[in-house]
Amino acid sequence: MSQAMTQTSAETIAQFDRYVVPNYRRYPVCLVRGEGSWVWDAEGRRLLDFFPGWGCNLLGHCPPRVVEAVRDQVGQLIHVPNTWYIEAQGQFAQALSERSFGGQCFFCNSGAEANEAAIKMAKAYGHPSGRYKIVTVEGGFHGRTYAALTATAQPKYHVGFEPMVPGFTYVPHNDLAALEAALDDQTAAVMIEPIQGEGGVNLPAPGYLEGIRKLCDAKGVLLILDEVQTGLGRTGEWFAYQNYGFEPDILTCAKALAAGVAAGVAIAKPHVAAALKPGMHASTFGGNPIACRAGIAAIETIEADGLLERGRVVGERFRTHFEGWKAEMPGLIRDIRIMGVMIGLELSMDASGIVADCMEQGLLINATHGTVIRLLPALNILDEQIDEGCGILLEALRRSTL
Ligand SMILES: *Cc1c(COP(=O)(O)O)cnc(C)c1O
Repeated sequence: MSQAMTQTSAETIAQFDRYVVPNYRRYPVCLVRGEGSWVWDAEGRRLLDFFPGWGCNLLGHCPPRVVEAVRDQVGQLIHVPNTWYIEAQGQFAQALSERSFGGQCFFCNSGAEANEAAIKMAKAYGHPSGRYKIVTVEGGFHGRTYAALTATAQPKYHVGFEPMVPGFTYVPHNDLAALEAALDDQTAAVMIEPIQGEGGVNLPAPGYLEGIRKLCDAKGVLLILDEVQTGLGRTGEWFAYQNYGFEPDILTCAKALAAGVAAGVAIAKPHVAAALKPGMHASTFGGNPIACRAGIAAIETIEADGLLERGRVVGERFRTHFEGWKAEMPGLIRDIRIMGVMIGLELSMDASGIVADCMEQGLLINATHGTVIRLLPALNILDEQIDEGCGILLEALRRSTL
């Protein structure tokens, strides 16, 4: 029973139908193995992956340094709680702090958990001065736990779960005046994704993020950046804010943080982090040695292989393909939104048929917000793989116009 990969996809699906909560829409395929931008299903079919691990596998499937670090660690210690010091956690924290804004790290296991930590930190920091409100932006996505879900200003995700957590206010995206009007002397923090991921790869308007920083400074409000999806190199810098010219007070990162091993972090400026006193917040598995070794190996891989630069090149190669398609099918391609390997292609029609067509042809992609094809390819995807996958996607787009 502990032996994996002995079942057909159909057998696994039948087992899920009986024993697994049906809260996901899944493709009828069971994946069993991956290498770089390739994955294989239980029937031995090879698929090219432009969306590896929902953006978690930033270095593709099974990156060798990460595999090696995890293998080494599981033979030494699998888990030690945070009542002890763990060498790998300190090293990972230093590595993240030095690549961001000199903050201190709170480790956890997921994006929602990282955002919960950020929200609690901001509230604890603001508490003595009566600041408790959190302002977030419409179309954003911050996770599924209660505060993170309340912070997610998309009514469709709240349906069935009301009443939500009090103290959250929403403003339209890319609207500085609305944000300014929403800040008062009870506001603890503004929380925003620098680039909205799930919301459709929505880039910030020029000056928007810098403007938020200025407003927060002027009004004594903390700025929390949700870099759960954009962090650790996805946008061609370690963190997306580094493409602009400002720093957050708290930054959250998860998905790609440990190259596919479950990990999350909230990084805070030390004077903000100091608001969380012992006993106020915790995560049993947070900062465990396996995740931290994997995260360190991910950073080493990105630096040794020059992958921040590579990510920018990859993004531009996709852009070149897309611009050709836009010239060919101007009615179908509505917008191209790319920063590094965070890639959105907005269509004038629903994109779900394109996703299904591509999967039949051996290419895995994602669609979000109905009309946006979202690609989160690995930083180390090869030129030939980009071109091959774009060929499949182009054919699917052409078929959709027939
Ligand atoms: C995925 C995501 C989350 C939630 O992360 P989980 O690990 O699923 O809890 C939060 N914020 C952003 C921007 C995300 O993309």
